[in-house]
This record gives sequence, C-alpha cells and structure tokens, in this order.
Amino acid sequence: MAETPRLTPAATIGILGGGQLGRMLALAAADLGLKTHVLCPEPDSPAFEVTRRRTVADYGDEAALDLFARDADVITYEFENVPSATVAFLRARRPVLPDEQALDIAQDRRKEKSFLEGLGIAVAPYRRIGQLADIEPAAAEIGLPAVLKTCRLGYDGKGQYVLREAGDARAAWAGVGEAASILEAFVPFAREISIIAARSADGRFTAYDPPENVHKEQILRRSQVPARISVALAEEAEAIARKVADALDYVGVLAIELFVVEEEGRARLIANEIAPRVHNSGHWTMDACRVSQFEQHIRAVAGWPLGPAARDRDAVMDNLIGEEVEGWPQLLREPDACLHLYGKARVRAGRKMGHVTRLSPLGSLAQANR
Ligand code: AMP
Repeated sequence: MAETPRLTPAATIGILGGGQLGRMLALAAADLGLKTHVLCPEPDSPAFEVTRRRTVADYGDEAALDLFARDADVITYEFENVPSATVAFLRARRPVLPDEQALDIAQDRRKEKSFLEGLGIAVAPYRRIGQLADIEPAAAEIGLPAVLKTCRLGYDGKGQYVLREAGDARAAWAGVGEAASILEAFVPFAREISIIAARSADGRFTAYDPPENVHKEQILRRSQVPARISVALAEEAEAIARKVADALDYVGVLAIELFVVEEEGRARLIANEIAPRVHNSGHWTMDACRVSQFEQHIRAVAGWPLGPAARDRDAVMDNLIGEEVEGWPQLLREPDACLHLYGKARVRAGRKMGHVTRLSPLGSLAQANR
C-alpha cells in the first residue's frame, strides 16, 4: 500500500508544474490551511501567484529539487510528463503521489494500452510504429482513417496526425517528428465522456458523475454534466476507473477519457487515455460539487479522508481559449455563470486563459437533452 503521511494543516505540499491545474490545486490546499511550494521552469507561471513558495527551476536541476523536497512533506504534480529521473530523485527524499507507476504508464501510449488491455478494458485497435515502413501495413490491418500518435509527450492533440489514405503515411510520419508511435483506428464515437475519480491510500474510492466532453482541434472546449448516457454506462465508466485505480494502488485524483460507441442500438465504452492528475473535464466540480476535484486530490495526497463527490447542480463548463477571455465583463453579469480566470499575462491563440461554468438545477439539463 502506498506510503502516505497524514499531514496536519500548515504542512507543505510540493507541486510540480505551475499551470492552471497547479494554481487550482494550490488554491484548494490553501482553503484547507495547507501550504504549497510550486516548482516550474517558467517564471510567469499562473500557480506562482497563489503559492507560499515558488522555485523557478528546470525539472533536472538537482540542487533546486533537493531544496524543494526538503521544504515539502509530500510532493504531487499537475502534469503527467514529469521526467522519470525527476521523480526518482524526489521520491528518494519525500513521498511522490500518485507514484511513479502511474506516471510510467501514462507517459507511454504503448504501456497505457497494454495496461488497459491487461485489465480487460476495451481500447481502440492499434499497431506499434517504429519507422515509416510500419505505417502502411498497420493501416492495411486496422483500416483507415486512423490516427498516428506519438508514444510519449503528447497532450491536447499535440503529436497526433490523422491518416485518411495510405498516401498520407509520409506526411504523418513527419507530422509526429518521426518518433516511436502507435497507429490507432479512428473511433466513430457517438460522444466522448470522462470519468474523474479519487482513491485514498487506504483503498477508498469515489467518482464524480462522468461529464460529456466536446473537443475542437483536439482541445477540450466544453464539459457538461450529466452526460447523455444511461445510468448503466455511467456505472461502467466508474467501474473502469476503480479497476485502474486499484491496479495502480493509486493515491489522488485520476481521469480517464472514454469514447462512447453506439452499435446496433447498444452503447459501449472504449478507453482513450489515462491522466494521473486533476483534469480539465473536471473543472465544473469547483462550482457544482461540495468537494472539487482539486480539494479531493489534496485530501488524498495529504492522507485525509476523501470528500463526497456528489453533485448539487447540472453544469456546463466552457474553456475560455485565446481571445475568448475578452468576454469576461459579460460573463460577470450572468447570474449563473462562475468565472475562473488563470491570471495569464499574455493571450495566445489556443491558450487556455480561464473557464466559465454555468450552473442549473439538478435534472434541468437531462430534461433539455431529451
Ligand atoms: P488524445 O490526445 O488521445 O486525448 O486525443 C485528443 C482528442 O482527439 C480526443 O479527445 C478525440 O476527440 C480525438 N481522438 C483521439 N484519438 C482518436 C481516435 N482514435 N478516434 C477518434 N478520435 C480520436
């Protein structure tokens, strides 16, 4: 069982990564009287504004990591691409939660697929690609369209290329930087959902209602709860998350992105990706639940009891991407809109600048969807 200290308030949680997820984790920790220390290489990171201590350093800077570890009682992270050497260095000094096994799997799509398959969880058909010449035969086997995805360091659709015909192989291979990849069958999904769950060191588990997610250009735009799925399918999503969390002896919040496929009037789930961290599709929990995903994660890594994941409201969360953030004055005037801005100084196309969650009474969205 993972080693988790029972922190007292005023203890310090080290957070690797200073983006909006780190910022919202630090805010949730502060609400519980806990202190945070954020380490991130970019000096103008959003989380730096809301943390007691900050370290601007590369993830390979051992002197900085050593001081960071000394200051923290437990260490967590807001992104899954934390270098394994960084984790190894830190975990020799302080507990790192979730542990390196979760990171190892989430950092490599091949490992992630085999892990999910090993648990009997359906994934899209795929083939391993090590060189250009592997693509055509793989495409012939799994069919087109298909998606070429780099095994490592992909997020928000980066490191992905959609192949529509065999002649696209060369462009696709160049598109993923000629890196080790998988070719994955394109899933003709009816919708996308995710399941956000938490597990504590003593094996307790809780999951939020699965949101339905809309992506544009592979970036999440909207998450809506409830999703337009049956209760049975929502339970299936929760069972998948529980299986994954138990298999990893996981401590913290995790998210699994799932495709809903409808075949002959029956819906089934195909797992796409595991994120061993709080997730953009769970931001609505800040306003629609008593305990948000951020507080839940802090509770779990602090060794505190998990809180209820029950939802008080229906919710629609929209990311404010790039210039959309300019609409903040109007959003402030909407009575049911909860606005969250990340304090990023520069607006850039495609950059997540904030999000807005619109709340409505429980049951109202399900009726509207009928
Ligand atoms: P990922 O980085 O794997 O989470 O992919 C980002 C988004 O791209 C997903 O949420 C889907 O909208 C889309 N996508 C990824 N893989 C597939 C696939 N095999 N079939 C259809 N759409 C996909």
